[in-house]
Amino acid sequence: MCSILPMLSPQTTDRVREVADIEDIVNEYVPLKKKGQNLWACCPFHNEKSPSFSVSPAKQIYKCFGCGKAGDPIQFIMDIEGMSFTEAVRHLAQRYGIEIEEERERTPEQRRALSEREALFMALNYAKDFFIDQLKTPEGRAIGLSYFKERGFTPEILEAFDLGYAPDSWDALLTAAEKAGLQRDVLLKAGLVLQKEGDAERVYDRFRNRVTFTIHNVSGKPIAFGARILTQDKKQPKYINSPETEIYHKSDVLYGIFQAKKSIKAQNNCYLVEGYTDVISMHLAGVENVVASSGTSLTENQIKLIKRFSNQVTVLFDGDAAGIKASLRGIDLILEGGLHVKAITFPDGDDPDSYARKVGPAAFREYLAQAPKDFVRFQIDLFQEEAAKDPQARVALIQTLLTSISKIGDG
Ligand SMILES: [Zn+2]
Repeated sequence: MCSILPMLSPQTTDRVREVADIEDIVNEYVPLKKKGQNLWACCPFHNEKSPSFSVSPAKQIYKCFGCGKAGDPIQFIMDIEGMSFTEAVRHLAQRYGIEIEEERERTPEQRRALSEREALFMALNYAKDFFIDQLKTPEGRAIGLSYFKERGFTPEILEAFDLGYAPDSWDALLTAAEKAGLQRDVLLKAGLVLQKEGDAERVYDRFRNRVTFTIHNVSGKPIAFGARILTQDKKQPKYINSPETEIYHKSDVLYGIFQAKKSIKAQNNCYLVEGYTDVISMHLAGVENVVASSGTSLTENQIKLIKRFSNQVTVLFDGDAAGIKASLRGIDLILEGGLHVKAITFPDGDDPDSYARKVGPAAFREYLAQAPKDFVRFQIDLFQEEAAKDPQARVALIQTLLTSISKIGDG
């Protein structure tokens, strides 16, 4: 009997990639044991007495050093159940309660749009690997790697976050990528290279002489980069970032969500910080349920993203009271989104990154456990000093509180 299954929508596959957890899935077939960063078992695909089959929860992949089988959760189901790709996606969708959307025959335009997206993903992935490889060159070791080492970033952290180095060159990435067969217009659309103003023929690398932070989507694909300068050049911005592209919409993305999602779910709490290095410092301190909104206050789509994994957000504020007051409006949006909000501030103008490095991992974790205030209490404390002196400030405080409370949907 032959049955032709209709095509699955790419959204269904995306959702499966977002929620499928390699550790849970493999554990159903072979028991995993933790050793170092990874989990190990005797390989289910070949006969062996000592474990050479590894699972990386951080990367959501498995790899056998004996027989070479490797891949993501979907590939694992294909390998172990002998299923096709589509069957494996259906199998996992059922397991995780994901609605399966079928898709009709695609129009040529839809096919073109889809293959353009695929090409952008490939270009971003190529650039990620390129920047990682550059950390191994003499220049990359001397400049990029030594910066990361100085910050205490471990090899595991470099790997989990795909940190890299963009060399001091106008066309290192462009030349390598074209040699590898990537098209120039794809590299342009991916935001990896730029055209010189008034001379479209002159194309050059966007990221030069900087360390690179790979920005992943929720299923772990590279979609953009942030890049930090290491020289003292005051004319250059400290960070430059990928522009908006077909696959990167800044307002929909949270830095670190891929590395954090499992822990956010397990802890039922998501720490919200400002920058890339805050996220990484917290991982180094053993706190993995953390994401960064990249400076701006949260958008509705970012809030929805967090809500898939938890209904609790703890905002880590840095800076002075004035800065904190300015960002309170963003919090009302989180409350409106139906999330519970707590807040933490740091003493002496420290941010999570500097405070974690100052006090060390254990004291930092203890501070996080004890410092959270519910949001109403937090606002009262924040405005208390001036409200005590000034009746008008008192009225303003009460109004602010009432606004926040009115945003909490839950009676
Ligand atoms: Zn094997």
